Amino acid sequence: LPLPQLLARPFAALVLPGCDEKRLPPVPDPVGSWSRAQRQAWGLPTRETLAAAQRAAWHNALHTPVVDLLWRSGDDGGEPLLASALVLALQLEGAACTGVDARRPRSVAAAPTPRPLPQGQALALRTLSSTAYSDLRLCPYRFFALRQLGLQAADELAGEVDKRDFGNWLHAVLQAFHEDLLRAPADDPATRVARLDGAAQAVTQKQGLGAGEFLPFAAGWPPLRDGYLHWLAQHEGAGASFRQAEQRATRPLGPVQLVGSIDRIDAVAAADAAANGPQTLLIDYKTEDVGRTRQRLRAGAQDTQLAFYAALLGDDDGLRAAYVNVGERGQTQMYEQADVLPLRDLLLAGIAHDFGRIAAGAPLPALGEGAACTHCAARGLCRKDFWDA
Ligand code: SF4
Repeated sequence: LPLPQLLARPFAALVLPGCDEKRLPPVPDPVGSWSRAQRQAWGLPTRETLAAAQRAAWHNALHTPVVDLLWRSGDDGGEPLLASALVLALQLEGAACTGVDARRPRSVAAAPTPRPLPQGQALALRTLSSTAYSDLRLCPYRFFALRQLGLQAADELAGEVDKRDFGNWLHAVLQAFHEDLLRAPADDPATRVARLDGAAQAVTQKQGLGAGEFLPFAAGWPPLRDGYLHWLAQHEGAGASFRQAEQRATRPLGPVQLVGSIDRIDAVAAADAAANGPQTLLIDYKTEDVGRTRQRLRAGAQDTQLAFYAALLGDDDGLRAAYVNVGERGQTQMYEQADVLPLRDLLLAGIAHDFGRIAAGAPLPALGEGAACTHCAARGLCRKDFWDA
């Protein structure tokens, strides 16, 4: 319990860990960067009131019949730590006696868990999305656990608006805006701003997002909106026009069906317009850091998303594909994958090869490498943290 929560709750005994100089200062620092005068004007607790509350909670805690006070003598970085001044004062007053550490060292034989190596031929997948295939590329065991066994993580933070919700919201807003613009074209910048704002409000209402929850994103909306409209005007000026948004598409590939939803499809002028007519440009929106989007293009065949969506659109050999990074700081930029057609063909061959091997009983090892493991829903199952180093 935090110290103040001990008030009015009598306990028979108490263990107070963390009584070091950092975690139990006699005068806690007030949060925020306001001055003393501002705190007083706004009725926020001052340093003195916090110190008085800390002392009152401390004295109340010490009235418990039996109290053990514990502190570390060093922090994680090896820096020495003193006991809190509140503890030192007790020692000076002779009100505390040194305890005895009752722990006894014992030897435990290391019993690391072997890396799992399942086979997945009995769990054939009927459909494959771009993210599922990316799991297979990153770590075959993760694919086995999350996609073949179907052990998807529960959404623990349901109800809170996070970055992913913002991405979904923005996709829906741009879809509504462009479909509206297709029905009733408008070039005037002020009209476009008003209609994009209208789409944002309508989607916010439709998705039931509270104003409070959405406040951090709402604050960044005007620069994002203006940056997007600026890019759109340039994009249209180069001969592009919106065709469709959020188009669901499928493509059979051997025993598996590739599935996905393409953020947006535009028509763009071909280099030789007279000979070829317009080309199709598929677009995937990104709201991530722009460096991450650039990295996707540099990754070539390692980044399968655009190639996967290109495969969903059939064997159109005039197809182009690009990420459009919609930046929250007012910059929208398009990053085109120049080699999308060879990457698409490589990807289709790769998927056919990988699924052939899985069907033949090839093991699906847990690779346990790099950033893939940092946010992995299967980490508790592959037991990476218990493998033999
Ligand atoms: S934590 Fe790493 S090794 Fe384990 S399943 Fe996830 S990606 Fe694979």
